[in-house]
Amino acid sequence: MEYGRKYNFAGGPACLPLAVLKQAQESLLNYNGTGISIMEMSHRSKEFTHIWNSARASFRKLLSIPESYQVFFILDDASIQFEAVPMNFLAGRSRANYLVTGYWSHVACEEAQPFCQPHSVWKAGSQFTEKIETTGWDIDPTGAYLHYCSNETGNGTTLYDFPYSSLPEGMPLMCDMSSEFCARQIDVSKYGVIYAGVQKNCGPSGVTVVIARKDLLKKEHVLKVTPPVINYALINDVPEQMFNTPATWSCYVTGLYVDYMNKVGLKHFEDLAIRRSKLVYDVIDSSAGYYVNKVDPKCRSRTNVVFHLKGGETLTKKFLEGADKAGLIQLAGFAPVGGIRASLYNAMPMEGAEALIAFMKKFRDENKV
Ligand SMILES: *Cc1c(COP(=O)(O)O)cnc(C)c1O
Repeated sequence: MEYGRKYNFAGGPACLPLAVLKQAQESLLNYNGTGISIMEMSHRSKEFTHIWNSARASFRKLLSIPESYQVFFILDDASIQFEAVPMNFLAGRSRANYLVTGYWSHVACEEAQPFCQPHSVWKAGSQFTEKIETTGWDIDPTGAYLHYCSNETGNGTTLYDFPYSSLPEGMPLMCDMSSEFCARQIDVSKYGVIYAGVQKNCGPSGVTVVIARKDLLKKEHVLKVTPPVINYALINDVPEQMFNTPATWSCYVTGLYVDYMNKVGLKHFEDLAIRRSKLVYDVIDSSAGYYVNKVDPKCRSRTNVVFHLKGGETLTKKFLEGADKAGLIQLAGFAPVGGIRASLYNAMPMEGAEALIAFMKKFRDENKV
């Protein structure tokens, strides 16, 4: 590939579009005639205020975010939202509902414990890999909200059709969308809060996007111990300004990425995600058990394709080494899950998936078990 770049299948921080990297490179030394880099620029300057507001507006456009929602850029990564959600939205209640479909939603549920009694609505089996049930949930009607993770990055499962009608009247839905954010069209109006670390699908690390329904942002609901930088009701009073110093460079590159997505259209990325992942799943399914993915086809993630080799650890190691040599990098599975994980985020071109399946077929031919 150009510039000796490789196909990067990392779970995150992940690959960025070359067009975006080049644009960032062009403005690295002297942004727009200001004589300085964005990295050297005050976050209060008019140039940066413009970058900040237009990046937020760009997300609004891409995801058709209604006016009744606020878009925040929060410094730091997605995990801090596991605390921020209960701190901001318990609204005086002592219980909250958690759907546990995999590693990340499990962590979210655990981390809510200092603030409330998290109630598990439904929990996937210990391997978290096979199926997500959408019926028979035990929702506590006294819970302040229901939290879930729409795409389990490490386990490779997605809940595509959340059963909105099973939510008790008025209970807000909170979603960690990190690893499938901007990879398909969503109806924002179904949610109380959506959050996502941008380093998977739409930016470098350092920024989390939080989309919150404005009527849920009430200062009297926020726990007293909440730090100002994640106190959404407080930040909502000054959304056009910055409450603290944001990760300026990351905000800038995120803005470039989302502008680029707006130019091509979200639908394009959704179609690409479907076609790209299908290529890989088809090779797995036609490998006569050489490559194994046990996820119910209805729950298979388009952005994180997780599989194991029948040949076990020795062949997995050989697979990873061979892939690396072929320019297909960062394919090792999420540590608690093992095996292989091919993360196919928005910036992964179709050619990347094609190169991967060509390698998978060749590897299988050359390494019988
Ligand atoms: C990556 C990821 C996180 C953690 O993100 P950090 O930015 O590292 O805190 C949380 N949830 C999901 C679904 C993720 O994919």
